[in-house]
Amino acid sequence: RFVSAVEESPREVSQDRAIRPDTLADYIGQAVVREKMEIFLGAAKKREEPLDHSLIFGPPGLGKTTLANIIANEMGVNIKTTSGPVLEKAGDLAAMLTNLEEGDVLFIDEIHRLSAHIEEILYPAMEDYQLDIMIGEGPAARSIKLDLPPFTLVGATTRAGLLTSPLRDRFGIVERLEFYSVADLTTIVMRSAGKMNIEIDEPGAREVARRSRGTPRIANRLLRRVRDFAEVRHDGFVTEAIADGALNLLNVDRAGFDQLDRRVLLALIEKFNGGPAGVENIATALSEERDTIEDVVEPYLIQQGFLMRTPRGRIVTDLAYLHFDLKPPHKETN
Ligand code: ADP
Repeated sequence: RFVSAVEESPREVSQDRAIRPDTLADYIGQAVVREKMEIFLGAAKKREEPLDHSLIFGPPGLGKTTLANIIANEMGVNIKTTSGPVLEKAGDLAAMLTNLEEGDVLFIDEIHRLSAHIEEILYPAMEDYQLDIMIGEGPAARSIKLDLPPFTLVGATTRAGLLTSPLRDRFGIVERLEFYSVADLTTIVMRSAGKMNIEIDEPGAREVARRSRGTPRIANRLLRRVRDFAEVRHDGFVTEAIADGALNLLNVDRAGFDQLDRRVLLALIEKFNGGPAGVENIATALSEERDTIEDVVEPYLIQQGFLMRTPRGRIVTDLAYLHFDLKPPHKETN
């Protein structure tokens, strides 16, 4: 599991429970996904059937886990949570599956990291609610089949392309989460501030939102840090100027880029002449994990138009040069 700026600390996870939305109506932004989920959930409830298996993908911190919990809550069922890397033994998955009650949600985070033999068990479970496993070894080994209650598998992944196609094909609902607009993040910051008793005005919330890489988890984290700053250096009230001062101190720049974002852009500019460079080479140059670059750093830089993926590798755009007050290289016209 990679460590990154977007990863949650255990402390954050517990603090987060208080501010995590638990109904679809409180899920800010993602209008398209929300509208579709409203219909799918409504239809499933009307037919008194579990929701179809759902795959949610998108960069870390955009609300995949939150949405999985909302699905269970809206369906009025329990949610059991696990993750791809944690499910190592067939018996672990079998135990989770046989403990489900009718209609329950089984949430598997990082589902692209399931091992092949675990996936094999999941296929008949998803398709026919059948558990089919081998127990014992050697001559005493035998296969047992069990009926499972109908359930909903919700899988989350940073990139849908990392799933094997047989697994991907078994999801009836596949939804992609997008980076949030500044307006939506401002609403999220205002609501979180309300729940955490942080005093903040709208321009203060907007400043935090602008610098949160389109990501609610980062917005909530920066809000906590900005509050610290406001309490120690000022009277606790967060204004735009105070948010700006705090975020500068935290090395979050005006575009919302953190240190790693800037290192990736600068490496491309300084070491690779602006690119194209392969992601593996960029990772090596920075001593970072390739997954971190691909899953965490690149999606936002691409969405903001600072970086492009080409068949020959990554290249930076003129915006990247201008961000560092550098002159973009002269391009030959053809
Ligand atoms: P992911 O599973 O995609 O990494 P999470 O679901 O853990 O992301 O979301 C991170 C945090 O951001 C949540 O705990 C929640 O507080 C906040 N959050 C995410 N999406 C929303 C949203 N649509 N509206 C409000 N808050 C959100």
